[in-house]
Amino acid sequence: MKQLFTEEIGKRFPYLYETHLHTSQGSACGRNTGAEVAEACKKAGYTGIFVTDHNWGGNTAADRSLPWREWVERFAQGYRDAGRMGERIGLDVFFGWEAGYQGTEFLIYGLTPEWLADHPELREADVERQHTIVKQAGGMVIHAHPFRKEAYIPRIRLFPEAVDGVEGVNASHTNPLTASGHNGESDQQAREYAAVHSLPMTAGSDVHSIRLLGGGMAFPRRIKDGADFVRAVKGGEDYLLKDREAWYSRRGIRMDGETADFPEGEGRMNP
Ligand SMILES: [Zn+2]
Ligand SMILES: [Zn+2]
Repeated sequence: MKQLFTEEIGKRFPYLYETHLHTSQGSACGRNTGAEVAEACKKAGYTGIFVTDHNWGGNTAADRSLPWREWVERFAQGYRDAGRMGERIGLDVFFGWEAGYQGTEFLIYGLTPEWLADHPELREADVERQHTIVKQAGGMVIHAHPFRKEAYIPRIRLFPEAVDGVEGVNASHTNPLTASGHNGESDQQAREYAAVHSLPMTAGSDVHSIRLLGGGMAFPRRIKDGADFVRAVKGGEDYLLKDREAWYSRRGIRMDGETADFPEGEGRMNP
């Protein structure tokens, strides 16, 4: 039955995206280049990826002393490298970034390096101002792994009014390759938090190398670009959240692989 279930999902939601991914060009903790990670994702069956390297407030690989525009260009190298490879092998590559505030992190989608180069004020923005600026530009702020417990995160801080959604699955928390000390409990907390505040959820893996972790989001249609992704998530289009082995509805309800049942009113092509 489990196999039937997976086949059924593949038929209904054939477009799979990795939404949380780092490259060595953009992130100091990234182990492989954008091109290498793109190739690995293509092989693993993803339709597309969002390159979300760590920004100036996080573990960025781009020299913070560079003038703003040069910094952005340097920062976007992993994305551009992945994009060139993507064109060759048929993988859609979109730009995003992970914004750090003393360990609290947010994934930003729907904007481009060109937009970022024109908005240096973002560098000084606090969490609330970041949301205002990104929202005005048509982008989306997602609280990344809000309940992760790690030494680099001094304390859990929540900003339900300053985000557009919550990362409800972070596959690095459950994949044995990376899950040291984690068990998926913090993702469960994240899904409950999103549900309480009626915030949409995303799913990704926090990929840092070609060792992929199996998370992502599956859609019934192909996503055109970052702005289209924002529309799909904020507009409540149908999609699924994928952990390494488990599937969840977009509202964070775990789907039962034994019966191939979709939760009530969810997972249908035309709700
Ligand atoms: Zn990192
Ligand atoms: Zn990350």
